[in-house]
Amino acid sequence: MDAFEWKRATSVQDATSRATHTTAEAMLGMPGDRAKPQATLVKAAGVDLLDLMKDGLVSPRRLIDISGLSALQGIREDGDGGFTIGALTTLAQIAAHPGLQQHCAALAEAAALAASPQIRNRATLAGNLLQRPRCWYLRSAAHHCVRKGGEHCFAYAGDNRYHAIVANQDGCAIVHPSTPATALQALQAQVEWVQGNGERRIAPLEGFFVLPSQDPHREHVLGADALITAIKLPAPRPSTCSAYVQFSERASFDWPLAAVAAVLVMGDGGACLQARIVLGAAAPVAWRVPQAEAILEGATLSHDRAKAAADAALATATPLSGNAYKIPLFRALIVRAIHKAVGSQTRAPASMAAAGGTAGWL
Ligand SMILES: Cc1cc2nc3c(=O)[nH]c(=O)nc-3n(C[C@H](O)[C@H](O)[C@H](O)COP(=O)(O)OP(=O)(O)OC[C@H]3O[C@@H](n4cnc5c(N)ncnc54)[C@H](O)[C@@H]3O)c2cc1C
Ligand code: SF4
Repeated sequence: MDAFEWKRATSVQDATSRATHTTAEAMLGMPGDRAKPQATLVKAAGVDLLDLMKDGLVSPRRLIDISGLSALQGIREDGDGGFTIGALTTLAQIAAHPGLQQHCAALAEAAALAASPQIRNRATLAGNLLQRPRCWYLRSAAHHCVRKGGEHCFAYAGDNRYHAIVANQDGCAIVHPSTPATALQALQAQVEWVQGNGERRIAPLEGFFVLPSQDPHREHVLGADALITAIKLPAPRPSTCSAYVQFSERASFDWPLAAVAAVLVMGDGGACLQARIVLGAAAPVAWRVPQAEAILEGATLSHDRAKAAADAALATATPLSGNAYKIPLFRALIVRAIHKAVGSQTRAPASMAAAGGTAGWL
């Protein structure tokens, strides 16, 4: 790792005025290229950033450490039933929060399943959302791929077993690496940030992440002078239930191969009034599947209805040479997420209970 300067941010404004590049901008170009920017980058817990530095993928001149900014810490229950989660809140704090466990179960479950206990105790929510993708070609200094400003995507002809099965035809086939993002998008979260000019902005998480067809060199809309201050969750409608499920090769210390968040607003007798189904590790962004939601909304939920929604969600998938296994995996997980969400209600409808639970689905 190259030598770098270290500066503790004294305020949000101090950080936004000092940062010169995003991490993605600082990674453009070949490692060791003298023309690469002498970047000043924001660091939260540093779990991802320091890995990139140790691997020689980014060599900033200076880090601005925001981890001591108390204004960005903690979880607040808003008066209207929603939640404001400070940017520096750790994944462990989110997983253990009783209010989130009760009202936004999908998020608490996703945070609890991410990484390992040690990492969850350090990793911040904003840093998690902005971590760079896990594609091994991106993370290899020897591969100058499209996302780093090169001309080739090595995954198409190479080892693409962990890559995207949808929205993967536009020059880059990453999957978005954030586990909480899948649940946050299903819960209709909003991202709040402050710009270098002091302006405070807030926007839905849906639309915050950037597809390769929009720009293959970045994963999100923020510029270098923008600092995430909080993630906001709206108050859930009455009778909302939610769940997050994932499947990984290892039980801990691993990203999911496939993940699903389901948020359902339920009416009487198992009727679904509103559904939001989001897939993780399927696409370059957390991937909402409106075609599956349409099959659930207005219907009495049943095992067959959940299976029809799963089929609809995967109907347009375009798997690569090594990842078609994800299709049946996602099918099973979508059904499982719907069952789990409905089952988390105090009185699950008989139409779902008749399916006999989720044992043996995968
Ligand atoms: C072995 C291992 C397993 C893992 N498994 C998972 C997993 O299963 N699921 C998962 O989701 N993640 C997983 N991770 C990733 C881990 O959760 C992230 O690396 C971590 O959350 C990053 O947070 P951080 O606070 O350390 O961010 P940093 O590394 O400090 O920063 C990451 C990026 O965000 C930017 N940044 C940070 N905070 C802000 C802010 N407030 N405003 C603007 N920019 C900001 C930084 O400039 C940098 O570009 C795993 C990591 C490891 C090492
Ligand atoms: S999938 Fe994206 S990050 Fe991976 S090699 Fe292709 S262009 Fe690079």
